[in-house]
Amino acid sequence: MDTQMLIGAQFEAGTETEENIYNPKTGEIVVKVPEASKDQINRAVEAAEKAFKTWSRTTPADRSRYLLKIADRIEAEADAFAALEALNCGKPINAVLNDEIPAIVDCYRFFAGAVRCVPGVAAGEYLEGFTSMVRRDPIGIVGSIAPWNYPLMMMAWKLGPAIAGGNTVVFKPSEQTPLTALKCAHILADILPEGVVNIVLGRGQTVGNTIINHPKVDMISLTGDIATGRKVLEAAAKSVKRTHLELGGKAPVIVYDDADLSAVVEGITAFGYYNAGQDCTAACRIYAGPKIYDRLVADLTASVSRIKYNLPDDSENEIGPLISRRQRDRVSSFVERASEQGHMEITTGGTMPEGGGFYYRPTLIAGARQEDEIVRNEVFGPVVSVTRFEQDEQAVDWANDSVYGLASSVWTKDTSKAMATANALKYGCTWINTHFMLTNEMPHGGLKQSGYGKDMSVYALEDYTAVRHIMMAH
Ligand code: NAD
Repeated sequence: MDTQMLIGAQFEAGTETEENIYNPKTGEIVVKVPEASKDQINRAVEAAEKAFKTWSRTTPADRSRYLLKIADRIEAEADAFAALEALNCGKPINAVLNDEIPAIVDCYRFFAGAVRCVPGVAAGEYLEGFTSMVRRDPIGIVGSIAPWNYPLMMMAWKLGPAIAGGNTVVFKPSEQTPLTALKCAHILADILPEGVVNIVLGRGQTVGNTIINHPKVDMISLTGDIATGRKVLEAAAKSVKRTHLELGGKAPVIVYDDADLSAVVEGITAFGYYNAGQDCTAACRIYAGPKIYDRLVADLTASVSRIKYNLPDDSENEIGPLISRRQRDRVSSFVERASEQGHMEITTGGTMPEGGGFYYRPTLIAGARQEDEIVRNEVFGPVVSVTRFEQDEQAVDWANDSVYGLASSVWTKDTSKAMATANALKYGCTWINTHFMLTNEMPHGGLKQSGYGKDMSVYALEDYTAVRHIMMAH
């Protein structure tokens, strides 16, 4: 398996510590990948710096053509990408092939179009005798750092707007999931001019830390943990770099008494457990009204216990294992601590199946209270809690009582109640009678400690470009 990084036009292996890359379905090592040295990271930044001089002067139409070619190549190699992502992340192959790859291809295509019609204030004489105009220019070299839950998709979310906007990039995938980025590196090297995208591998505390502290990196884009976001901000403060942060989430799901119960059960079974719950928008924190609570817990328990996983025919699997043994143990310890409390009931799941993979049974915890750890902290696993509320206002207050602010949903047949609740929720996204659905035209990003960078949509293109005012005296 090719484990070489892309630095300028060169493919070369890292020279430092080797990281084990696992197959989460079996727990076996697939390959060992060495990380980049400081010298290799410096050369990647220099390649990006050199490429920026010409890439930043290409026209939107030029960049659009490159992005469309990248999209076409990923689409043409969809099967191979899906197989690699499934291997490295343990995802069911159909989930990658049918859900992720089309969204990834569409992301590059969206930015290919969006960059050709960037809106703004009209040029004009806002002072008599002077013409003003606004430009949106590239920022420079973007250090992009991605997590392990959707490796190729996070790469698309980061590269699409960055290169469409005329920036050059040094990209670091998660040290746990570099395989699809390494494959994509060959496509990028074939299509893009040398140095526009460079890919370096390694851990956060070594390679990531070097990138975020690099004096020539103008902007840092991170999708990851809140703690990592804080480190990015500390590093950025030294040189006043721009930052684009997409951090964690703990999505509240408000289910009012008049909600369509079967739609709620179907929705939470799908969107609370998709990707084994390793999703920052996972529908994991349910607040159910007093009249619907008992039926919801009963029906959801039955539905969650039917989720298919770890079957020999992968095409039947709905979810995969956790990404690592460490992540599985972390999830397990959350559930153990919850079960020790006494007032919560694990209505299904709550254990690890036998076998070598990093599986954890889809779990539902009923009777959770607002102050419980399982309600407050991001588990990032197939675990959903249900909390009963008595008054509608209490549900909104509890939903908003969180350091996170990424995604939320409200379920009711009453349209005006749905709209009033959506308005009151302090989250980057609120879905009504659904959850989890994303589209490349719409922004994805958080409030509060979930960060403030927007992915997808024209808002991402804004984040990856700088507004400039040019004024000419007549
Ligand atoms: P993480 O923060 O541990 O790692 C993310 C990336 O940051 C990795 O590439 C890692 O190597 C790097 N990193 C870690 N420490 C670093 C440091 N000191 N300096 C520079 N880089 C460093 O997060 P993770 O465990 O890979 O991913 C899970 C987290 O990501 C969850 O909290 C999840 O909610 C969040 N996430 C958020 C979104 C979103 O859109 N908001 C999407 C996916 C994941």
